[in-house]
Amino acid sequence: GGAARLIDGKAIAAAIRREVKQHSEALIASHKVTPGLAVVLVGARTDSATYVKMKKKAAAEVGFHSIDKTFEESVTEEALLQCVQELNSDPSVHGILVQLPLPKHIDEAKVLESIRVEKDADGFSSENVGNMCLRGGKPPLAVPCTPAGCIELLQRSGVAVRGKECVVVGRSNIVGMPVAHMLQSMDGTVCHSKTAGLPAHVRRADIVVAAIGAAEFVKGDWIKPGAIVIDVGMNTKPADTAKGFRLCGDVDFDAASRRASAITPVPGGVGPMTIAMLLKNTLNLARHAAGLPRLP
Ligand code: NDP
Repeated sequence: GGAARLIDGKAIAAAIRREVKQHSEALIASHKVTPGLAVVLVGARTDSATYVKMKKKAAAEVGFHSIDKTFEESVTEEALLQCVQELNSDPSVHGILVQLPLPKHIDEAKVLESIRVEKDADGFSSENVGNMCLRGGKPPLAVPCTPAGCIELLQRSGVAVRGKECVVVGRSNIVGMPVAHMLQSMDGTVCHSKTAGLPAHVRRADIVVAAIGAAEFVKGDWIKPGAIVIDVGMNTKPADTAKGFRLCGDVDFDAASRRASAITPVPGGVGPMTIAMLLKNTLNLARHAAGLPRLP
């Protein structure tokens, strides 16, 4: 079998970050508006702390102003809602990001819904998701970052979606569901996952997006020769390394890359795109605040 072309998420994300930086500088020059991103972190989860650190660093690199709100694990829901209200009314803040997951005693949906739609940096609000899904309605102000990242990977690799059969495995609010809607709006035919005989569905697909959360769940022989594979999974598997494990996706990469025409690696595929799209959302929200249209 042949070897699939690698879709280099690191390089594509870097290009998007350069574009965001240029547009941000232009916005500062033309409207004296510096995009501002507020990041709310609750508790001491090391993974959340790492993500927040990466997001703040990336925001600083593109010239954004960033605001930090850090709370103890024991913070009350009321205090968190109060914090969001303050950020909602702070004109220097254009995007608000609440790092998930929140502790169990806090109603996550309630906190997310309290973010003004004009400041919904993650694109998770029901109004933005609703506008994304409704046909012929208002365009959303921001779109979910990981799904938008998957679409950018396809577009910037020259993959046309129109008329293609797409299978999205997974239908979570943050990845699978929005990816399926985006592919559908690009005139792809979307099959879904929780169907009997999943391998047969995947075998028909010209484009496969895997967002399951199960290590190497999608087997190489499920991949139609020449298909495009976008692997969102971030899993670990036992390996002979210093840490005793290594990162892997939801797709059996080695086997799939012998059949696919192009595939994203894990790490270095979808992963770097999420933060790039968060920056793009924040830029677009700042442009909206300045009365400028959203960049596509
Ligand atoms: P969730 O657990 O929220 O959703 C998993 C989805 O997969 C569900 O819709 C579930 O179906 C479906 N699923 C589970 N098992 C099967 C199966 N056997 N057959 C078909 N479908 C199945 O996960 P997320 O969407 O949040 O994340 C998915 C993966 O992507 C994870 O590995 C995560 O780490 C990674 N991820 C990576 C990001 C990045 O790269 N930046 C960002 C976000 C996530 P059902 O709805 O029926 O339960």
